[in-house]
Amino acid sequence: MKIELNGRKAVVTGSTAGIGFAIAEGLARAGAAVVVNGRGEQRVTDALKELRRRFPNAEFSGVAADLSTSEGSTLLADQIDEADILINNLGTAHINGFFDQNDEEWLDLFQLNVMSGVRAARQFVPGMVKRGWGRVVFISSESAVNIPKEMIDYGMTKTAQLSVSRGLAELVGGTGVTVNSVLPGPTRSEILGNWMAATAREQGITQDEAEQNFLNTMRPTSLINRFTTTDEIANMVVYVCSEQASGTSGAALRVDGGVLRSIV
Ligand code: NAD
Repeated sequence: MKIELNGRKAVVTGSTAGIGFAIAEGLARAGAAVVVNGRGEQRVTDALKELRRRFPNAEFSGVAADLSTSEGSTLLADQIDEADILINNLGTAHINGFFDQNDEEWLDLFQLNVMSGVRAARQFVPGMVKRGWGRVVFISSESAVNIPKEMIDYGMTKTAQLSVSRGLAELVGGTGVTVNSVLPGPTRSEILGNWMAATAREQGITQDEAEQNFLNTMRPTSLINRFTTTDEIANMVVYVCSEQASGTSGAALRVDGGVLRSIV
């Protein structure tokens, strides 16, 4: 199978690092023009520089905007009027105690992980429907199904993304636009990589050993028994954005290394 996305324009939220950066790379490799997004100008400039170095013939642009706010989403909408592919990748997590967390912290995470994607879909999906082709992917998590007790708020936002993704797929059914979610498992992205590197330093062990300890204690059902790479997540996303994936919509696609034990 050869995936060709020439002539398609993709917006990838939160793509200056981690899984989003790998998705931007994967889509560019397949020929798409890619819009990179991060909060700060410098990080966006650095990511663009690196992507242009790796893919000198690809088309890239960047928007520095904090998409956890409606002002940030408006900034993105002002600069990018249409897209054929929307990857709602932006998201974060904090370890916290359920009984200590206040309302504001819950709502802030909801804005960041869920509303950023809702607003971007509101902006870009009507154009896709009008043109009769589009791909929307929500980067959820296995934590949408296995809710972590130390991050219940994160689990809630990741389940909410599955809901929005499935509902949107229903709404645009039969239009040529597909909407899916991808559920990564523990992945060596910037945030988790930094966390594991810090744990390794603290405990005087290697990063591989820190990751193994994390899997043994926090995700013992992993079948691959290692963290996935950001490229492994990006590969699924690029496939689901391809012409060839036209039969897949409304799905929750797992790249979780088998952490979730359900068959379907
Ligand atoms: P990361 O922290 O490594 O990268 C996040 C990216 O988002 C960075 O480019 C950062 O600059 C950008 N960003 C952060 N806040 C932003 C904001 N308010 N506005 C715009 N950009 C912002 O994260 P990651 O691990 O690559 O996670 C990406 C997605 O994958 C998230 O939705 C996350 O929940 C999901 N996920 C990650 C893992 C994992 O193990 N890493 C597992 C399951 C799901």
